[in-house]
Amino acid sequence: MKVENEMKIAFKSLSSNEGFARTAVCAFAAMLDPNMEEISDIRTAVSEAVTNCIVHGYRNTCGTVEITARILKDNELYIKIKDKGCGIPDIRQAMEPLFTTAPCEERAGLGFAVMESFMDSLRVTSSPGKGTSVIMRKKIGNIDE
Ligand code: ATP
Ligand code: MG
Repeated sequence: MKVENEMKIAFKSLSSNEGFARTAVCAFAAMLDPNMEEISDIRTAVSEAVTNCIVHGYRNTCGTVEITARILKDNELYIKIKDKGCGIPDIRQAMEPLFTTAPCEERAGLGFAVMESFMDSLRVTSSPGKGTSVIMRKKIGNIDE
């Protein structure tokens, strides 16, 4: 992976930081000159991943959410969103549309489906008790493809 540029942020797992997180990633991605639709896709995907860290990963506790954003060759944006929370025991099941472990909180179980559809790729790694990382990639400005 050839990294042309990189930024890292870390913040407390408070829902009041969701707006900061998505705006920070979009500000970094701005140098790729994304269009409005691409900005909106990135904002939404980051929001879903950060919300998951806060509401699921650190449920009833507080921890740190780390984001690494990179610009790779050919105008590709790479985003890693990581928590050191409870982890996911069955990733395949968790990624199924409509699967949620929090139905009482009116969660739809669609966060991963949204990330998958708005970004070009989504990879989730997790260890129960250790935490979860979500890696998303998206090529910016490739209207011909
Ligand atoms: P929605 O995103 O629609 O509000 P949801 O968060 O339950 O609902 P997903 O975002 O698709 O749906 O996540 C599915 C499930 O995966 C969650 O219910 C939770 O059990 C688990 N999960 C997702 N992210 C994490 C995380 N960072 N740490 C621990 N568990 C997670
Ligand atoms: Mg979610």
